[in-house]
Amino acid sequence: MSYIPVIGLEIHAELSTHSKVFCTCGAQFGGQENTRCCPRCAGLPGTLPVVNKGVVEYAVRAGLALGCRINLLSSFDRKNYFYPDLPKAYQITQMERPICTDGLVEVEGGPVRINRIHIEEDAGKLIHDDMEGVSLADYNRCGVPLIEIVTEPDIKTAEQAKNLVEEIARRLKYAGVCDAKMEEGSLRCDVNISIMPQGAKEYGTRAEIKNLNSLKSIGRAINYEIKRQSALLDAGKPVIQQTRRYNDNHDRTTALRSKEEAHDYRYFPEPDILPVQLSEEEVRRIADGMPEMPASRIQRYETRYGLSHADALLLTSERPLADFYEAAVACHPNYQSVAAFMVGELLRRLNDRGLAPEEIPFTPVQFAQLVKLSDGGQVARNDAKALLNLLFDAPGDPQELAESRGYLINTDPQALAAAVDGVLKENPKAVAEYRQGSAKVFGFLMGQAVKKIGRGADPKAVKTLLEQKLKEVDG
Ligand code: ADP
Ligand code: ZN
Ligand code: MG
Repeated sequence: MSYIPVIGLEIHAELSTHSKVFCTCGAQFGGQENTRCCPRCAGLPGTLPVVNKGVVEYAVRAGLALGCRINLLSSFDRKNYFYPDLPKAYQITQMERPICTDGLVEVEGGPVRINRIHIEEDAGKLIHDDMEGVSLADYNRCGVPLIEIVTEPDIKTAEQAKNLVEEIARRLKYAGVCDAKMEEGSLRCDVNISIMPQGAKEYGTRAEIKNLNSLKSIGRAINYEIKRQSALLDAGKPVIQQTRRYNDNHDRTTALRSKEEAHDYRYFPEPDILPVQLSEEEVRRIADGMPEMPASRIQRYETRYGLSHADALLLTSERPLADFYEAAVACHPNYQSVAAFMVGELLRRLNDRGLAPEEIPFTPVQFAQLVKLSDGGQVARNDAKALLNLLFDAPGDPQELAESRGYLINTDPQALAAAVDGVLKENPKAVAEYRQGSAKVFGFLMGQAVKKIGRGADPKAVKTLLEQKLKEVDG
């Protein structure tokens, strides 16, 4: 029998604030173990947490990026649990009154509603040493600010879930609140999944798969669960409400604990922290500082700039890239040609050199000037590519670079004629073949002539002259 999957995600995103959420310890990834913790993030008796205002602002930015309502009043709660990754034995989170609610994110596969976004603190990390039979605790991550993004169960396929995580990651990066590196754990995902028969009115019993840290494992875990749960229902057995773990190596999920064994978190209002009260003005100020989100840029690039959907997607995939493009077209508003040179040439070179878009060593204006030289016929297309390589190594003014390195189109008719004549003379066999009707060799002769002229050869002029001279030979 075929079933309809029902999927909801809980996404944990580490906020990239300088310091932790309730103390002034650094919040950066890594570092020598246990060097970024203080009595406050260890929750020692007598210490008091103070809310980092930057964290509140980042959470609001995240909410705005995901189309949420921002709640002017939110508050913190204690979630009690005893596990060695958390020295306080409780986590400060927002249970009753989260900072953001009711968002919506459009992705391929259908829109997904966001139920809530709340602020909480991360726990430490345990390193299990099987050789020694011990577990070591690193508390640097304790108190690193997190937001948890909870979706409604609107997702129906693994593909849609992956699209959503990708889109949320992109928006958080655009908003500048999270670097969304799944491999470093700054974005982690729990998947809730159930299935129900076609036409059913009620959701089935769900399993929750914890802590997925790549798009690939999100997709594979979902597909595995759909199969596992379908087989259970087909066999007339119930799905048990469980927390499960996905194992990459074996491509399967295994049970961690069932509902009966679930923790009782005994939530209660955090007595040491006052509720967070925002004003309309503060929220408006934060909203005014938000950048344009990718979806709206994609639309603008397609409708106003006439780019293909594929190019618009590529150019907006990362904000520094989109910003670079916009700064370049502000200088040389040939939207399609700048886009083509970026997608076709610049991106490949970034990839080859292992550079991120924010590491491009020249300015968007310099890039635009280079495209302009090529569009204006002052530099041949191939030479523009060579100049782009030069820009990477010695960023500077493309006009000057083209002049000093001899890349400006060579307009000397005598030099051109000498080169073409020389090629015809040196290649009598090819010329003869051409005369016998083999058009193929034209390209070869072209190539020889362009090579002879070297930098600054103008393929168009070479082509015209070569055609003309071959006719003369013909006649
Ligand atoms: P809890 O309070 O038990 O954590 P929530 O209502 O907060 O449950 O839901 C947690 C996540 O589980 C949300 O992402 C939600 O969309 C998802 N979810 C809820 N019910 C189901 C279901 N029957 N099938 C799949 N996902 C579900
Ligand atoms: Zn601290
Ligand atoms: Mg929940």
